[in-house]
Amino acid sequence: MSYPGGVTALAGVSVDIARGELVAIVGPSGSGKSTLLNIIGTLDRPTTGTVLINGQDVATLSDRRLSALRAREIGFVFQQFHLTDGLTAVENVATGLLYAGVPRRRRRERALSALARVGLAHRAGHQPHQLSGGERQRVAIARALVNRPSLVLADEPTGALDTANGQAVLALLRRLNEEGSTIALITHDRDIAASLPRRIEIRDGRLVP
Ligand code: ADP
Repeated sequence: MSYPGGVTALAGVSVDIARGELVAIVGPSGSGKSTLLNIIGTLDRPTTGTVLINGQDVATLSDRRLSALRAREIGFVFQQFHLTDGLTAVENVATGLLYAGVPRRRRRERALSALARVGLAHRAGHQPHQLSGGERQRVAIARALVNRPSLVLADEPTGALDTANGQAVLALLRRLNEEGSTIALITHDRDIAASLPRRIEIRDGRLVP
């Protein structure tokens, strides 16, 4: 993957994530993790190479079909949560279903059940500013899961949390993986990476064998 201006951010990278995996994508700042996340998440198209999601070559899709595939198959979790203030927790989670063709009343039910999975049913009516950082990230995880995506991509999900809340979010991701979710977690933290079942290590845009 090259950016305009001639930066080659990834070269010769081949990665296969199987259903049911929990994998860390680990490397120092500037190593190409976000670039890889954007490519796996179909937010960016690679300069060369192929991205297959459930066997489908995403390069063959129009932007509209690609957006639909992304909405259906990929759940995103960000370091800074990206929740909408002014919406309650359950409304934030329900936004994960806006592009999935789920009827309105079913969206709320599904959002409540996703909140229950992350242990926050009792906070459904709270707005983000009424929640702790750890709770906000759990709401964001519920939003990522509500559509039952094939893959959850979590970009430094504990990066904005203190140690205790970070550990709780990691434990939640581990439990969700045991319950069947496929999760790729991007991190620069070697201890977090070491605690996960598989690591994809990247340095200067290349995989570390
Ligand atoms: P990481 O997420 O591991 O910190 P990135 O994928 O963000 O690494 O960056 C990898 C390399 O690509 C870096 O050298 C960075 O400066 C460069 N880069 C990232 N995004 C862009 C961009 N939009 N345009 C040009 N260069 C970029």
